[in-house]
Amino acid sequence: MLRFQTIIYIFIAFQLTACKNDTSKENIEIKKTPFAIVIHGGAGTIKKEYISSEKEAAIRQKLQEALNTGYLVLENGGSSLDAVQKTINVMENSPLFNAGKGAVLNSDGKTEMDASIMDGNTLNAGAVAGVFNIKNPINAARLVMDSIKHVMLSGKGAETFAKKYNVQFEEDAYFFTERRWNSLQKIKAKHNEKTFNKAVYNLKTDFVDEHKYGTVGAVAIDKNGNIAAATSTGGLTNKKYNRIGDSPIIGAGTYANNKSCGISSTGTGEFFIRTLAAHEVSNQFLYKKLSLKKSIHDVIFNQIEPLGGDGGMIGIDKNANVAWDFNTAGMYRGYKKSTGENVIKIYKK
Ligand code: ASP
Repeated sequence: MLRFQTIIYIFIAFQLTACKNDTSKENIEIKKTPFAIVIHGGAGTIKKEYISSEKEAAIRQKLQEALNTGYLVLENGGSSLDAVQKTINVMENSPLFNAGKGAVLNSDGKTEMDASIMDGNTLNAGAVAGVFNIKNPINAARLVMDSIKHVMLSGKGAETFAKKYNVQFEEDAYFFTERRWNSLQKIKAKHNEKTFNKAVYNLKTDFVDEHKYGTVGAVAIDKNGNIAAATSTGGLTNKKYNRIGDSPIIGAGTYANNKSCGISSTGTGEFFIRTLAAHEVSNQFLYKKLSLKKSIHDVIFNQIEPLGGDGGMIGIDKNANVAWDFNTAGMYRGYKKSTGENVIKIYKK
């Protein structure tokens, strides 16, 4: 009888230990689920000698604020979609970037904006193109994704939709900045109708100040391993004829897929459209089995650059690896990971 009892005790003790081991295993799993956010604030001829130390400090501070905003969402168990949207809002509300408040001016002197967002879990996406007076175009893009079957709305129709869904609008004055006005005048003075194409497509040879694209983008992976990507922009200074860039085009300026990675682009949009740059990175990762870093590098240097395009891309892969690359002098960029890493960079190195 005593022996039987001893066996029962040993059995129970064994079960308890096994159970405890299971729980700690689970805990390790939870701790291991990494989350991260990466952002860009545009690429271009961004060199130390062209930026005052005050401006550099302001940009760094805003990038950090944007990163912190998205990171907090992820840390609290929120979705990567909410994280990228809220992060983009911070940059759209700042005059420092070419999106929302600080968006560049088209040839009529107006801010005409594009934005897109994609959910890597469902492959659902939303975009708005050529919209005026919407304070946060990324919010309109998110509503397109969440509320209707269409993926991309443009111009007046997109604005009617945004009004219906109570998206915030602002007067022209809200978007006006002296800096953007001066940039437009400088470009206009230099380029007449005949040289217009050069002004739009060959910014490398244009004014230093116009070398910055300034588009904003964010990619995040949340605690559930879901990836989301988003991009918002005013496009290119002096653009005409309701030109639409890569930023609102899913697969060019923005792409997210839980099976591979999330990407946001910035640069001469025409070349990112022609190479379907963001989706192409995902292809390199999936089918060529390249690392995310190499995939981005390949698309920028072997596909975009030979065509004459310039710019950069940021991304996060399904294993929460963060990567970026660009063929311009600099790119405003940063990332924050659950591993504790927090990096903000502006110049090449
Ligand atoms: N890619 C954007 C566009 O072509 C511009 C930018 O990145 O600043 O519209």
